[in-house]
Amino acid sequence: MIRKATTTSVLLVASLFAASAIAQERPRLILQITVDQLRGDQPTRYYDRLGEGGFRYLWESGIVYRDAHHGHANTETIVGHATLATGAHPSNHGMVANLWFDRETGFTTYNVEDPNFTLLTKGASVDANTEIDPTQRAARSDGRSPAAMLVTTFSDELRSNTGGEAKVVSVSIKDRGAVSMAGHSGTAYWFSKANGEFVTSTYYLDKYPDWVVAFNNAKPTQQFAGTTWQLLHDQDSYLFGDSDDRAWETDVGGFGRVFPHSYGDGSSKYFTTWLTLSPPGDKLVLDFAKQALLEEQLGQDALTDYLSVSFSSTDYVGHVFGPSSLEAEDNILRLDRTLAELFAFVDKEVGLENTLIVLSADHGGPDTPGYLQSLKIPAGYVDPGSWDKAAAIARIKKAFKVEADLIAAYDHPYVYFSDAVKNNPGIDQHALEAAVVDELSKFHGVSLAVSSSALRDGNLPDTDIYRAVVNNFNSKRSGEIFIVFEPNWFINDMEGLTVASTHGSPWRYDTYVPIVFAGAGLAPRTVDRRVHTVDVAVTLSAYMNIKPPSGSAGVPLTEVLAK
Ligand SMILES: [Zn+2]
Repeated sequence: MIRKATTTSVLLVASLFAASAIAQERPRLILQITVDQLRGDQPTRYYDRLGEGGFRYLWESGIVYRDAHHGHANTETIVGHATLATGAHPSNHGMVANLWFDRETGFTTYNVEDPNFTLLTKGASVDANTEIDPTQRAARSDGRSPAAMLVTTFSDELRSNTGGEAKVVSVSIKDRGAVSMAGHSGTAYWFSKANGEFVTSTYYLDKYPDWVVAFNNAKPTQQFAGTTWQLLHDQDSYLFGDSDDRAWETDVGGFGRVFPHSYGDGSSKYFTTWLTLSPPGDKLVLDFAKQALLEEQLGQDALTDYLSVSFSSTDYVGHVFGPSSLEAEDNILRLDRTLAELFAFVDKEVGLENTLIVLSADHGGPDTPGYLQSLKIPAGYVDPGSWDKAAAIARIKKAFKVEADLIAAYDHPYVYFSDAVKNNPGIDQHALEAAVVDELSKFHGVSLAVSSSALRDGNLPDTDIYRAVVNNFNSKRSGEIFIVFEPNWFINDMEGLTVASTHGSPWRYDTYVPIVFAGAGLAPRTVDRRVHTVDVAVTLSAYMNIKPPSGSAGVPLTEVLAK
């Protein structure tokens, strides 16, 4: 009897101990940071000039994965964000591109547009006259929701696991940077360039919380009126200090190609655009995220909350000036300060020991052809306008006896055949796709064209590039042909806006991103094993002992789980 009691109490103590160990593994807050277009080498490129508490905090106290890549081919913003959020490949989460051709409506669709849920703020929708983001201009409604995301996110699973008690808030300059990470059940806020305020849609809220109204009423953009973007340090100390003015940099609406970049008095129609393509964009997101954490009381009790912060400035700076430019260098040093401010704030309000931080990027990015050429590295801009498409199409139409239009849309990287051709039982689709692949492969700048029927047949070489195209393939949204340009060759004309560089390829500079976990008592470690961005959400799920997102394909990163 006594012996049994002893055994029971030993077991009881053991199980209590185990239970508390599991409970202790749940942090109060999960902070998921996504930096738009932060190629894997960028955080440490200027390491000697980083300050304390930002990137250095992550890299020196966290678990750093040095060979982390996206596993899909179309390395664009929504594709990468959705992958980080869901742990799924685009084939499953459905966000195959920033824009895809919707066969049902016959229109090109912007990933998070949804006419059923209008913006909660009137007058905040995209202004087509000043919007430089061509994907934003393509949206036909100002409504936004995650409806097109076909699977759950980690944040959804956290809400689901806690009966909806866990708070999930997501913030970004870009709507797609916020909507993706909030999942279906969280709340997303993003920045409206039209009115300079943070907004949401009726999908999330019927009415703004008082703190959001107060934040917007304080006119957060006005602090930058009459100021300039100046270098943080002495120009001589910069790697690109003597090459500020490069011919390939873009002057957006008079913002200029050299420091100091003036924001004017705040009256320019490009004022808010300039803020987003320079460090103030990140500063606005930081301030809003801090306020959200305070007002929504994120991380204030034992139930784990989730905050996603997606910083967009690095992407716009990369597009406009290139990732190897004085602007990009200063932007990284300032992003480092922005991160330091965020971590210090979280430490004060929640405690970094109670916060699991994960930082990654939605994609990397190529260097500008001009920069690469100056180093004798082959690179260039692809100009689809120079392709003799008419002759190629005529040859194909003749061979297949097609009268109707052959192509319905080319939303890079996908070519979509017209319904007339696709639904014609008299046309051998395999042969037709093969013929188009043949013609495309002859065009200057095209490295590879992959047909959907080849993907369906599974009869492809087992290479990273083909696997990435497969991972990107969703039968409802992908086109018939996926075009891959030559490495370091890409389109720089984004619907009329000439940019210095564009990501979106399956090549390594575009798939290469940082993945770093820190806080929550993790011990510093560097891991050189190849890992993928689909692993992030799955790792968070495993860390929390909750079920993984519905379409997830990744595996838990065991270094983060080891205690
Ligand atoms: Zn981009």
